[in-house]
Amino acid sequence: MASDRPRALSGIQPTSGSFHLGNYLGAIRQYVALQETHDAFYMVVDLHAITMPQDPKDLRANTRLSAAQLLAAGLDPERCTLFIQSHVPEHAQLGWVMNCITGFGEASRMTQFKDKSAKSGANNATVGLFTYPILQVADILLYQADSVPVGEDQRQHIELTRDLAERFNQRFGDTFTLPAAHIVKEVAKIYDLQDPAIKMSKSASSPKGLINLLDEPKVTEKKIKSAVTDTEAVIRFDTENKPGVSNLLTIYSTLTGESIPALEAAYEGKGYGALKTDLAGVMVDFVTPFKQRTQEYLDDPETLDSLLAKGAEKARAVAAETLAQTYDRLGFLPAKH
Ligand code: ATP
Ligand code: MG
Repeated sequence: MASDRPRALSGIQPTSGSFHLGNYLGAIRQYVALQETHDAFYMVVDLHAITMPQDPKDLRANTRLSAAQLLAAGLDPERCTLFIQSHVPEHAQLGWVMNCITGFGEASRMTQFKDKSAKSGANNATVGLFTYPILQVADILLYQADSVPVGEDQRQHIELTRDLAERFNQRFGDTFTLPAAHIVKEVAKIYDLQDPAIKMSKSASSPKGLINLLDEPKVTEKKIKSAVTDTEAVIRFDTENKPGVSNLLTIYSTLTGESIPALEAAYEGKGYGALKTDLAGVMVDFVTPFKQRTQEYLDDPETLDSLLAKGAEKARAVAAETLAQTYDRLGFLPAKH
């Protein structure tokens, strides 16, 4: 049944054996919240994952694992549509159309491509990596999404989505909703614990600064305790001069609901060791039940697969309608059955 709620849409890549704290705080927490107010569509974007080399066996396992983690984090298949991107072929189909209205220079300005191709070495970057923001445009427009919950690194791609939707609408008639990025400022960019100048990433070069939700508690504890701080020995939120400590305070505050000024007051006169020990405890309390719930979904692959099949069916009903309308607007000859 059609819902009169606004639509939300987002996706996460199955590029690792675990989501990290940046994914959770920057994106997944917002997915969970928007289920209550929006007609929400969330997907595991396997088509995006293959823009970088993936071992097929790992990709399959990580795709299931990603869905299980999304459920463990609080996505409820009764209140949102959860699916796997490749189960809905309209993504690739609309992606092609969007490729054909994007300027080459426009695509070249995407900073995510620059960052990622630099990581993999310019000669190893694929055309798929270059055009992935355009596939993302199709992902969003297919569902006529109003709101796209993402981290700061995706802001430019949402801008591109609006530009292309507007361009298509002007050339071919009103077809697509213009979406807005839903970015929560405080958690839009969680930083690497070893290098607080860069964002925490699944594809980080060093795992030491990456807090994986499925790490063993001992590992999590160790990573937090060895987080890079500064020599001032004062617990104060100051992103410019104290990026490491500020990052720890952001994480602490978001996980516990305590405000940053309250934390600053509570830790006045105390050292970084105390803050790290307490934060490690908070993290362990958070990840222990999360890991357990994830495992429960993984232990029952039939239920998981059937839930994903239902999600794909619901998603396809919406995506197919948008694609049919797009093809019609473009002037494609309808196939007669
Ligand atoms: P990869 O390195 O493979 O690109 P990733 O860690 O960037 O992985 P994605 O699957 O690309 O994860 O992103 C999923 C969501 O998580 C996106 O909305 C993205 O903006 C958000 N996100 C990723 N890293 C962070 C971070 N450090 N802080 C806040 N949000 C983040
Ligand atoms: Mg990413």
